[in-house]
Amino acid sequence: MISLVGSKSADFGTLLLYTVHSVRAAAPAMGAAGDVLLDVKDLQASVEETPILKGVNLQVKRGEVHAIMGPNGSGKSTFSKVVVGHPAYEVTGGKVSYREGEDLLELEPQERAQQGVFLAFQYPVEIPGVSNADFLRLAVNKRRAALGESEYDPIEFFGVLGEKMSSVGMSMDFLNREVNSGFSGGEKKRNEILQMALLEPEVAILDETDSGLDIDALKTVADGVNAYKSESNGIVLITHYQRLLDYIKPDYVHIMSKGQIVRSGGPELALELERDGYKFLESA
Ligand code: ADP
Ligand code: MG
Repeated sequence: MISLVGSKSADFGTLLLYTVHSVRAAAPAMGAAGDVLLDVKDLQASVEETPILKGVNLQVKRGEVHAIMGPNGSGKSTFSKVVVGHPAYEVTGGKVSYREGEDLLELEPQERAQQGVFLAFQYPVEIPGVSNADFLRLAVNKRRAALGESEYDPIEFFGVLGEKMSSVGMSMDFLNREVNSGFSGGEKKRNEILQMALLEPEVAILDETDSGLDIDALKTVADGVNAYKSESNGIVLITHYQRLLDYIKPDYVHIMSKGQIVRSGGPELALELERDGYKFLESA
């Protein structure tokens, strides 16, 4: 849910308000493993008139884990933010179909979040003045409303939170803190995974959630992702490093370069990159 915005904190308040105040009708029933969940075709996007995404194609089925790797500046974060509807990016071409037929690009960012599209930010946003517990409860209740489920009252929610927080190694102290405010890099990343665990999205994009984590935090984050992984959801892991993929096994690995996915393969592609680096892209 916090995935609605990126670095532009001015946008955040507006989007948060929309998220909190708009409710959608119940979502369709969850599909089965192998159904197409996210179908990205020739996606093109610009920021301030500069084209960044130049025709991205990616299909994620339920039950699959996809890794997207690639050099800095290749467009990985842009891709993830365009999928969730970040307002800084303009889609200039292509399509994103969700759950076999829904036009994701037609939905407002908060509707995408409520319908189960989640992004864990590379750089999570701080929201001073908003307590983490209130933020999480409002977000989860919006998602539950969209699913046609009853909302949690604060006491009920506390119980749900306790369980999920211990699963990502966060102490209850974080509930009274302001969202991400003064959190260390690793704590922010855990907080993103906590949001994912609570919101139970159908598609989760994790943008470099592994960066800046020590090995214990990395394992905790990986455990959280593996616990969330199921036959009915899909995961897109954006990462620089093979090491995360030792803990979360991808079914497919894609390499992004200059705004396009230029190679796709199985887990062996990540090992090849670890060994040889991105040199092959220079001749491409
Ligand atoms: P990656 O995540 O693969 O490192 P990004 O998607 O962050 O790459 O960036 C791709 C390119 O788009 C870079 O050249 C970056 O400077 C540019 N870019 C991304 N977001 C913005 C923005 N909000 N304003 C200006 N340029 C941007
Ligand atoms: Mg990035």
